[in-house]
Amino acid sequence: MSADSPSVVSTELRFAGIPASPGVVSGRLAIFSHEELRVRPTTIQESQIPEELHRLEAALLRTREQIQGIQDHLAKSLGEGKSDIFEAHLLVAADSTIAGAVRRQLELRKVCVEHVYQHVIHAYAQSMRDMEDPYLRERAADILDVGRRVVYNLLGRKLADLYSLDVPSIILSHDLTPSDTALLNRQLALGFATEVGSTTSHTAIMARSLNIPAVVGLHAVLAQCESGAPVILDGYAGLLIVHPTEQTRYEYGQIEKRRLAVEQSLEILRDTPATTKDGRRLVLSANVELPEDLPLIAESGAEGIGLYRTEFLFLNRVHFPTEEEQTNIYQQVVQASRPHLAIIRTLDLGGDKLPTHQGLDPEANPFLGWRAIRYCLEKPDLFKTQLRAICRSNPGGKVRVMFPMIATREELVAALGLLGEAREELKAADIPSATEVEAGAMIEVPSAALIVDRLAPLVQFFSIGTNDLTQYTLAADRTNERVASLYQPTHPAVLGLIRRVVEAAHAHGIWVGVCGEMAGDIYMAPILLGLGVDEMSMGSVAIPRVKKAIQSLHYGECQALAERMLSMDTEEESRKALIEVAQRSYPELVT
Ligand code: PEP
Ligand code: MG
Repeated sequence: MSADSPSVVSTELRFAGIPASPGVVSGRLAIFSHEELRVRPTTIQESQIPEELHRLEAALLRTREQIQGIQDHLAKSLGEGKSDIFEAHLLVAADSTIAGAVRRQLELRKVCVEHVYQHVIHAYAQSMRDMEDPYLRERAADILDVGRRVVYNLLGRKLADLYSLDVPSIILSHDLTPSDTALLNRQLALGFATEVGSTTSHTAIMARSLNIPAVVGLHAVLAQCESGAPVILDGYAGLLIVHPTEQTRYEYGQIEKRRLAVEQSLEILRDTPATTKDGRRLVLSANVELPEDLPLIAESGAEGIGLYRTEFLFLNRVHFPTEEEQTNIYQQVVQASRPHLAIIRTLDLGGDKLPTHQGLDPEANPFLGWRAIRYCLEKPDLFKTQLRAICRSNPGGKVRVMFPMIATREELVAALGLLGEAREELKAADIPSATEVEAGAMIEVPSAALIVDRLAPLVQFFSIGTNDLTQYTLAADRTNERVASLYQPTHPAVLGLIRRVVEAAHAHGIWVGVCGEMAGDIYMAPILLGLGVDEMSMGSVAIPRVKKAIQSLHYGECQALAERMLSMDTEEESRKALIEVAQRSYPELVT
């Protein structure tokens, strides 16, 4: 069924999108939009001006209280420093230049204060946008954000706000950026649905690690829904059901019961190894985006962290984190991984992970642009700060670091050179740091996969980023739902590249993992196993299911399957073969 043609069963409406994070949840809808309210100029009398100014004072006070509340919440959940954007917002809400301009305009134009305030804010934001200094240009967004909040308060309206939900809700929005998602209140955001997006966008990846159901790609649904409506969000089938009937609720209750029973049955596997029936042992490790996810590592049975995405520390803030702050967080990451190791990936900004305040101007093709290692190599100070902090995360011990988006050998050589400099600097300054550093390259650009034999001698491991490798191999933007059908991780070309990387790694005596979303998908376990990867890193929630899948498989059979799949003509054939293996080998996991 298409999202544009909802079927009506009594009052129930069903919208179909792309399932992005599994699970079913029911609750009230909270519609989140960046939409501006347009306030018309209502004429006032001169004598009303004091009253209007008084209303403005009250709205500013309320705004400051709200921002303070958000700050407190974020400081508690994300740590101090992460909420410094809201520090900047507080300054805007207390800005006397804006207040003075509003007063003058009120006296001059004699129209309602909400209109005057909106007008002043827009003019002020425009003057910021015209500034030379990229930092000041970025302030325009803060000014507009605060302005919107003040206008809502003046009108006595409630701004549906991601960060300050007051009841458990299912969020519906046109889009959610990874930065928005990082700020979600986990206790109150039960799930989310968006009009755009795809399964390997970082927003969807985060939903899976937050373990909340998500559906993306629900075209044109916003106009047909209202905030507060009761809904069921089905992250398995990719459905948003508005005003569900009693019958629908009952059916979903049954699904939930079955899911819980399977989950409970997997708990006993936590301390068992991921070994196939014929003895092939794999390492299953966890992908982590936010420090709050660290407690989940031990619970999931992960053998350490295979991908710590450091860029989330750099989003939603005015100033990048200092070396001390990063050291502190990486130490927590290393600590949470014990007795295993953590692979800390260097900054992968760009693509869909854009910081708000660091002057990364919008690009025509952000995934092909100034991203990840390209950005870091042009900012050696920033990069070395991070590398030093990583080396300091385990004084006297071993750390693992890896570089994202390597496309050329020169990039890898340059990154390793800066890593060497960072280590030397720490030694010279007598700062306690790791005695052993293992460096790895992410293989996620086809050019790297094709020269992998020339990269292998430089590193201690490879980690294949299948999310990007798929998008670059098939030239299909991973965040664009319009080309989602072309985004094929089991396309014979992608499988061929993975095989090539595994062979080169093993020929050079190094291990190779997969840390893209494929690794956490039970249908993909047989092919990754069969292609010979040594490690699979995934959102920790997925680990018990993937472990069960691996324990149910034969390595020998999976190798034969890989041979067959490598010579298949289409992705459709591969998909059918994988569904057949999953249904035969672990039917209880296949829903
Ligand atoms: C990948 O590309 O597969 C990967 C793991 O990195 P990210 O999803 O952060 O780009
Ligand atoms: Mg990647």
